[in-house]
Amino acid sequence: MSLVLGIAAESGSGERRVAMVPSAVSVLRKAGVQFVVESGAGERAGFPDAAYAEQGARLTGRGEVFGTADVLLQVRCPGANPDKGAADLHLLRRGQTTIGFAEALTAIETVRTMAERGVNCLAMELMPRITRAQNMDALSSMATVSGYKAALMAADTLPRMFPMLMTAAGTVTPARVLVIGAGVAGLQAIATARRLGAVVSGYDIRPAVKEQVESLGARFVVLELENAGAEDQGGYAKDMGRDFYRRQQELLADVLAQQNAVIATAAVPGKKAPILITREMVSRMAPGSVIVDIAAERGGNCELTRPGETVEAGGVRILGPLNLPSAIPYHASQLYARNLAAFVGCLLQDGQLRLDREDEIVRETLVTFAGEVVHPRVRELLSSSLAHAV
Ligand code: NAD
Repeated sequence: MSLVLGIAAESGSGERRVAMVPSAVSVLRKAGVQFVVESGAGERAGFPDAAYAEQGARLTGRGEVFGTADVLLQVRCPGANPDKGAADLHLLRRGQTTIGFAEALTAIETVRTMAERGVNCLAMELMPRITRAQNMDALSSMATVSGYKAALMAADTLPRMFPMLMTAAGTVTPARVLVIGAGVAGLQAIATARRLGAVVSGYDIRPAVKEQVESLGARFVVLELENAGAEDQGGYAKDMGRDFYRRQQELLADVLAQQNAVIATAAVPGKKAPILITREMVSRMAPGSVIVDIAAERGGNCELTRPGETVEAGGVRILGPLNLPSAIPYHASQLYARNLAAFVGCLLQDGQLRLDREDEIVRETLVTFAGEVVHPRVRELLSSSLAHAV
């Protein structure tokens, strides 16, 4: 019997992406798997039912997708779908596998329930950042989309234009844009703001990114901070502690006061985003300035950010957008689907799913398996939450 992969419409409110696009269905079909797709699943992302049917997928209702699929491919597994995930959890059955973003390190109660119900879960956000898994790195794909959209939002909200213009009516000076955090999203925000003609600076706690920032035509901001050891072995920033952040805020304040727009993307994996922009720093910015805080998903880099809202303080607008990839659903879905197809492709052996726990990619992403929570970090979090409860 060939393996059946299921694609259900994403049920999270405001979620417009779909986990598989027709071209990725076609790639996986060649590996001998079958697809059941919920009617309308790709519609909000711009992929009609007919395009899935053309690739040999069977279109059906939601109940049947959950009922017949061996493996469900999702953007948001129950843990990453706070409003509707519980209903999906009910539809998942023992022995079934779900692959998608799972918020496995934060939604630990949902992880526990999945294990109890015998549902196997592979979390895309835990994909190791190793060369072999580069084409499965959905966090990077989604960060690319977010960075691009954040720059567009800044340009759209600012009461000025981004480029310098020399016209018969005079010269328009270019906008000054600072991007804080030059990881995947930040670099894309820098590139996009540059393409729109702004004068862009980039800042990051990891000095290693200086060259990347400069290669995009932006200036790298250097603060006099002792940041040796700011980067962990995986290339991520570390949590630097309150005193460090206070000093960083003091030094950043002058840089910030000169900007028309700030795009904040700084994050530390598994932690709340560091506060790098205080209320006082915002009060020193010129009225009309804009802050797009895409770290809002993790609480925000600005003290005044309200996730999902726009706040105004002294004429400065602070945007705290959530789920930016969903705002560009066609390409976000296309990139995500390719990441998923590469991942599933690496899990398939003779057309069947083989979860080889000797393989680093499986070991790092497998959260629940055969009724147990198997991921060491999630297990640790669960036992410390149990210890707290006692
Ligand atoms: P992220 O989303 O965790 O963080 C965004 C950025 O915020 C990072 O560049 C981080 O250094 C920065 N930051 C954190 N605290 C800060 C502070 N106090 N002040 C200023 N900046 C701060 O990171 P990400 O974008 O997902 O990835 C970061 C890095 O990981 C990449 O640049 C790269 O080196 C590495 N990476 C490797 C691979 C791979 O090998 N496959 C893939 C993606 C990323």
